Amino acid sequence: MTATTHTPPTSAASQAVDSGAGDADASPLRPGWLTDRRLASLTRWVARPVSGRTAGESEGAATTTAVAPYDAKPTAPVPAGTTGDVAAAVAAARRVQPDWAALSVPARAAGLHRFHDLLVERQDEVMDLIQWEMGKARFHAWQEVLQVANIARHYARQGASYLADHKVRGAIPGVTKVREVRVPKGVVGIISPWNYPFYLGIGDALPALLAGNAVVGKADPQTPLTLLWARALMAEAGLPEHVWQVVTGPGAASGEALIDHVDYIAFTGSTATGRLVAERAARRLIGASLELGGKNPLIVRADADLAQAARGTVAAAFANTGQMCIHIERVIVHTDAYDDFREALLAATSSQRLAQTFDLSADVGSLASQAQLDKVSQHVEDAVAKGATVLAGGRPRPDVGPFVYAPTVLEGVTEEMDLCLGETFGPVVALYRASDDEDALRIANQGTAGLSASVFSKDLTAADALARRIRAGSVNINDGASIAAGSVEAGMGGVGDSGLGKRHGGEGIRRFTDSQTVAMSRMGPLGPPPGMALERFVAIGNAQLRALRRLKVR
Ligand code: NAD
Repeated sequence: MTATTHTPPTSAASQAVDSGAGDADASPLRPGWLTDRRLASLTRWVARPVSGRTAGESEGAATTTAVAPYDAKPTAPVPAGTTGDVAAAVAAARRVQPDWAALSVPARAAGLHRFHDLLVERQDEVMDLIQWEMGKARFHAWQEVLQVANIARHYARQGASYLADHKVRGAIPGVTKVREVRVPKGVVGIISPWNYPFYLGIGDALPALLAGNAVVGKADPQTPLTLLWARALMAEAGLPEHVWQVVTGPGAASGEALIDHVDYIAFTGSTATGRLVAERAARRLIGASLELGGKNPLIVRADADLAQAARGTVAAAFANTGQMCIHIERVIVHTDAYDDFREALLAATSSQRLAQTFDLSADVGSLASQAQLDKVSQHVEDAVAKGATVLAGGRPRPDVGPFVYAPTVLEGVTEEMDLCLGETFGPVVALYRASDDEDALRIANQGTAGLSASVFSKDLTAADALARRIRAGSVNINDGASIAAGSVEAGMGGVGDSGLGKRHGGEGIRRFTDSQTVAMSRMGPLGPPPGMALERFVAIGNAQLRALRRLKVR
């Protein structure tokens, strides 16, 4: 493993730093293109009708400033919204939503296509912001761009078919005509975490908007600028002012206020917060999708290509510095392959380039915060204290960056250790030995999470059969984590403690609509025509039942 020392940005981000905060201690890694003027053009998108539009315009208006992971210095101040701002943002969204919904789906889709093209052109800016605010390696920031562009294009092209009227047979075939139609919920609230601030901040907003909703998104306090950049780009793509608004402020207060006012809440975050969100949404009887945490297993069958399995494990375990909901934390290896796989995995781990650079020269970047570093360190220390063995890494790397943790492989992990079944959310993976497929399945299905899983095997039929028995919303065969999530036409979401509902595909957009049944009669009200005795009407009805049965209708 090559540990490079901290490297200043090499892209445009390396140019002169203009500290918006005027703060001598501000992060010198601020992207060069993010001048004060440009910063103001982003923060203007914070919805603050109650507490003041921008920090400059409202005396004493509060701001919050996150800490840049690469140097542990303040990023840039962002206006902090209040619960009143959240309520006002939802009210403004509610006012403009009917006009937005009145546009045709193709008219709304055109905006998504424009957004897609602008994003592909201007991707370096958002990658700079993602890295500065969150600390991941450039390649993982690019994966956010890739995913969002694919989602935008997919819903722009397929949205109309997902939302199309569904024709069903009516109460009396031939006499009644019935359609199930999709009606937008109204105002959709989106609460997203810091780990994929771009993908999770906008990936759900795109289908919600396409379905005719207005959206109010709550930015995570760690990564607001990335979401504001996305909002500003959507404005360039033609999205009207209040149709999608971004609110800020403390996570719990702003998040709860959002749930209290919107018509549907799409939440991504921890299982603990997800439960609170579900309870609050239930009190208002609004729908919620909950994309929560995981403890994802990867099974290596005896017949697997071990070089492939090691490569897939490293990619999935250390992706996004291990701060990815679907990343692999448990690797369950058939005992016959265990020693060879362990060797291949350790070689692949040691080849990971651990660094903080604004180019593609790093494979693994920093953790996002001191809190993340503390949590990961605590999990590993607890495991080691209780008897686990560190095969690689197992310690912070302050020589690389303040919140950097070495890619880590453990074995000998047992259930009394915190990291056995508790989500670590860092670049740490534990090896387990299985005697056969049934044993592997038993270990994979331990715990209460059920987000993502993986099976490596040359026997695709056996792998497929095993996949269907793993309790997980997605299973990747011969890939660690990304082929299921990258298939944006297929639903992505968890079971058990990993959540409710799906993003992506048909379910990912239909959740933002209500299904309305529109039934039409060609002959007026259903019932006996004037003058017909009820006895005769019932007899006709019974004859019809027998005929429909013979004709195999329904
Ligand atoms: P978190 O639950 O602490 O925070 C998530 C979001 O909720 C943040 O924006 C936060 O400000 C907000 N929030 C905090 N308290 C709230 C409350 N009481 N009401 C409403 N909103 C509130 O999660 P985190 O630690 O920031 O994110 C990491 C977690 O997210 C991990 O567990 C990870 O597995 C999970 N995650 C899941 C998915 C998925 O698709 N399943 C994707 C990414 C991350």
